[in-house]
Amino acid sequence: MTAQEPAQGVLLLNSWGTSKMYKAVCECGNDDCTHTIDIEAEDTGVTVTIYTTTRTNFWSKSRWHHIWTLITKGYVDYETSIVMNKQVALNYANVLQLAVKDVEELRNARQNQRSNEHPQ
Ligand SMILES: [Zn+2]
Repeated sequence: MTAQEPAQGVLLLNSWGTSKMYKAVCECGNDDCTHTIDIEAEDTGVTVTIYTTTRTNFWSKSRWHHIWTLITKGYVDYETSIVMNKQVALNYANVLQLAVKDVEELRNARQNQRSNEHPQ
């Protein structure tokens, strides 16, 4: 099994300058689990940020539920997960590798251009 192109389950949202943004969708199809992957090359290095926007209201559970959890555990759990099948997971890994390479090349090209414009 190899990664697909274009990749099922991993969508390119945006690409500008030296950054790329992807969206990874969950097997369940619920948008609440969708993860956004932001790959960015700066002069200092490449950063990959993965985040999610949850729409589930913190207060949708009763206040008592949260207060009780806080008293008994000392904290309130709030987490989100994404489920990927084998193919999507492979695509996910592949997209990460390719995107890191891409933004790095774009950054290097930009740096070369800059040093040609302003020779030391
Ligand atoms: Zn899900």
